[in-house]
Amino acid sequence: MTTTLPDIQHNLETLRERIHRAAASAGRNPDTIRLIAVSKFMTPEHITRAMAAGQHVFGENTVQDALTKLPLIRDPQNEWHFIGHLQTNKARYIAENFAWLHTLDSLKLARKLARHAEVAGRHLRVLIQVNISGDPDKFGLAPEAVAGFAESFLDAGLSSISLHGLMTIGRHGVADSERRREYARLRELGAACAMRFGATHFTQLSMGMSGDYEIAIGEGATMVRIGTALFGPRPQQHS
Ligand SMILES: *Cc1c(COP(=O)(O)O)cnc(C)c1O
Repeated sequence: MTTTLPDIQHNLETLRERIHRAAASAGRNPDTIRLIAVSKFMTPEHITRAMAAGQHVFGENTVQDALTKLPLIRDPQNEWHFIGHLQTNKARYIAENFAWLHTLDSLKLARKLARHAEVAGRHLRVLIQVNISGDPDKFGLAPEAVAGFAESFLDAGLSSISLHGLMTIGRHGVADSERRREYARLRELGAACAMRFGATHFTQLSMGMSGDYEIAIGEGATMVRIGTALFGPRPQQHS
């Protein structure tokens, strides 16, 4: 398969500009917003082009796909985020290679990650995935379950993984106004958890993709996960 690369440098500049503008109109400091370049189903060449344009934060959503990019994942210049659903039997790979996991949804997974990170002498930062819209097709904890889960997580005293906030995936095909309400609900949930468990565990909100990151920034996103607006359409659309 041959792929013609889009102008990744140009796309990045456009994205950075629009992120700055969205931050400014929300009265926010743009430096508090991380752009995660979602490179799933893209080639190593896409990634090296983005690196050449100064992008060093990347996201993948399946272990199988990430394995094909291992040298780039292990390149110390880069920070890798795992943003897909993770089965416990693949926890080791993430603990050994990734800096962040956005999709924590069980204590069993947390314990496995912690054990593997410890053995590898690494530290993994995690976010709790929340199914904010109650979509039956989506992973993540129900909003009502998040505080209880955070409490169990913090009580478990796992030292090689640490909790930093919440993540959600917007529901497909809803109007902007509804999307804004979903993201506002995640922000409110994060704020309530910060009050209860301490702000250091709830500094991050991972929300917003190519089609809605400006809305997400308006509602407080600190991480936006952007694939197609940077790399162009994916060869196969999985999720
Ligand atoms: C693929 C993916 C993205 C990026 O989607 P785009 O619409 O291409 O920007 C963001 N978050 C998750 C969890 C994804 O799987």
